Amino acid sequence: MYKKLFIPGPTDVDPSVLEKMATPMIGHRTAEATELQKSISEKLQKLMYTDDTILLSTSSGTGLMEGSIRSCTRKRAAVFSVGAFGNRWHQLATANNVPADIFKSEPGQPTTPEMVDEVLKTGKYDVVTVTHNETSSGIVNPCKEIGDVIRKYDDVLYLVDAVSSLGGDKVEVDAWGIDCCITSTQKCLALPPGLSLCSISDRALKAAEQVENRGYYLDLVRLYKRVAKDFQYPSTPSLSHMFALDYQLDRIMEEGPENRFARHKRLADKVRAWALKNFALFAAEGYRSNTVTCISTPPGFVFSDLSKPMLERGYRLGGGYGDFKSTTFRIATMGELQEETLDEVIAAMNEILGLED
Ligand SMILES: *Cc1c(COP(=O)(O)O)cnc(C)c1O
Repeated sequence: MYKKLFIPGPTDVDPSVLEKMATPMIGHRTAEATELQKSISEKLQKLMYTDDTILLSTSSGTGLMEGSIRSCTRKRAAVFSVGAFGNRWHQLATANNVPADIFKSEPGQPTTPEMVDEVLKTGKYDVVTVTHNETSSGIVNPCKEIGDVIRKYDDVLYLVDAVSSLGGDKVEVDAWGIDCCITSTQKCLALPPGLSLCSISDRALKAAEQVENRGYYLDLVRLYKRVAKDFQYPSTPSLSHMFALDYQLDRIMEEGPENRFARHKRLADKVRAWALKNFALFAAEGYRSNTVTCISTPPGFVFSDLSKPMLERGYRLGGGYGDFKSTTFRIATMGELQEETLDEVIAAMNEILGLED
């Protein structure tokens, strides 16, 4: 039986978008391929509030995280983490021989501009990585305020993982001073997994050109050069995803980005109210994600006692992740989710747990 997805990716894909994945193939070195990638880029620039160049990668988001930290770090990267995906930047750096240090916040607390300022004052770093929306802990970081701090330091590049927020919450790449902002298709953009994308600033590009070994497939300079030449991809891209993405971006523009963000907030408000009544929220107030809510459970709570009966009713909830696996569970409010469906889920959870409506 098909299950409605309340996990933080993949999210449910509209049938009309799925159908676009079955578009007949074109040559990837044709004028049509150029048109397709150009069209996607222009729409993404609007959704990301940027004039920067857009790069596509036939990999999931982790690919561009790896590519960006390796391509952009000349000296040393400062990795700020509020959960498992923040930690991933550090693992990627280490695996690629990129010098990096990790700075973790207390559980439930965000990365703060003050923390970033303290670290950058040492002069040791030329890259900062921040997770905009930490999917493992449901924390949204103050990326604008962090950007204001980074701007004071000339040589420092600002890489942001917006994998679980872009398209579901506002991410203003230019206004926040982000040099490389990354997302995947399978979360807020509500497409199948397998493609990722990022913006790249001119200063990031210039910095990357000074890095000697940037790898090959995920070298941002190489991806950029092909876009600059003819809006194509250096190897054969997932054209199927590109057809679907181009179409889905039209649907997002039709809903209106601001309306889409407001819908996610309304849904998250509803989940938060339910969670606060019956459980607790992991993220500190003021830093709670609108796309995924991480709910802290009391000792003795067994997630499968909830998730199994929910699956029987056709709903897949998100379990805890990483360090918070056994003490939290997660409900995503991403992509195409509408209020009626969330109401059904809350009613079903109340019934299973014997809670009041
Ligand atoms: C899902 C996720 C990732 C990993 O993305 P993939 O597309 O699975 O590689 C990274 N960061 C965050 C915040 C995520 O939610």
